[in-house]
Amino acid sequence: MNYIISCVLMVLFTATSIHAEEPVILLKATRVFDGERMHAGWVVAVQGERIIYAGAAKNMPVLEVGKTIELPGQTLMPGLIEGHSHVLLHPYNETSWHDQVLKEPESERVIRATNHVRATLLAGITTMRDLGSEGAGYADIGIRDSINKGLIPGPRLLVAGRAIVATGSYGPKGFHERVTVPLGAETADGYDDLVRVVRSQIGRNVDFIKVYADYRWGAGNTAAATFTQAELETIVEVTASSGRPVVAHASTAEGMKRAILAGVETIEHGDGATQEVYALMRKRNVALCPTLAAGEAIAQYGGWNKGIDPDPERIVAKKKSFKAALDAGVTICFGGDVGVYPHGDNVRELELMVDYGMQNIAVLQSATSINAALFHIDDEVGRLRAGLRADIIAVDGNPAEDISTLRQIRLVMKGGVIYQGTSDLFRTK
Ligand SMILES: [Zn+2]
Repeated sequence: MNYIISCVLMVLFTATSIHAEEPVILLKATRVFDGERMHAGWVVAVQGERIIYAGAAKNMPVLEVGKTIELPGQTLMPGLIEGHSHVLLHPYNETSWHDQVLKEPESERVIRATNHVRATLLAGITTMRDLGSEGAGYADIGIRDSINKGLIPGPRLLVAGRAIVATGSYGPKGFHERVTVPLGAETADGYDDLVRVVRSQIGRNVDFIKVYADYRWGAGNTAAATFTQAELETIVEVTASSGRPVVAHASTAEGMKRAILAGVETIEHGDGATQEVYALMRKRNVALCPTLAAGEAIAQYGGWNKGIDPDPERIVAKKKSFKAALDAGVTICFGGDVGVYPHGDNVRELELMVDYGMQNIAVLQSATSINAALFHIDDEVGRLRAGLRADIIAVDGNPAEDISTLRQIRLVMKGGVIYQGTSDLFRTK
């Protein structure tokens, strides 16, 4: 229902965009989180797609306000920035990852993704870094560009394309040796092949390169390092020469260490980190995307009744390793591996970050200004500051006290366009 109202609002706002001078929208809430800290007595003014003022109401310059949106009891904050998603996957308890990759036609996967990105935006995520199409080729590029062209509603996307894996490591696997199946990522090995594959992915206009520094292919199907140090360095060198970053899936200490030394910017998962690895991350300024929510979802799909059964060994270990990362001062990226669990339920990760020992305000920073800086988009989004894009949400209550208030989204604005919100929010001054 809200979506229908938002569509009407979108049309209204699109219609106003033909005027040279766009009306100023003034947002008034009980408190404002600017990406750094919480403030009382602040207002935010938007004109067109940009924020033109964010600060104390009493210091606001004289503006001719066209519309005022009153949000009593609510908190205004920058749109959330999800750091680890797969818009082309849906929850594994609906369809296993294998069956999604092997059996679902790409057209179905794109249609699902269209729903996923809409649900994500309406949940207050206005920017999202998507970490691989998982067998759906470069469909993520088309989804990103369709959102940018205004064809479908969704967050601003940064996409990885196919991602890079070492031969033999990635799935789906376990078939007869003469059966060839499509893989969830692109294989490449050795200097020449890696240079060619990195460049071909860059040529498709991916925003960054994702590499799997380890995977479950060790003895007994345990996680073990994949690429050699030299191979990872090749990937980073070739990617960096196009001005793009590399991020690494890594859950073993060895895989993480090689990836960090090679120069990746974020480590995804990181379950098996040691103190030495965390110290290295801190020294090299590499952030951790812990994907707590994916770990919990997979444990629950495996039969764990959270809150009734004791924590499985993997969850106990993850809590410990996440706490160790915090204690070591490692920068934490908000990234839950959403897609393993439902798109639009991104807040799960934020709730778990608090549960596992992080301060609420630090979680809010991670989901806004920190992720913006990590993804090199902090000159555009991630804070409520004059000049930045008007990516703004309002939530009922105070997320600095109760992180779950982020589930009570009352307003979603992206680039000055309102996608979620009810018409009674508006009154003409
Ligand atoms: Zn992932």
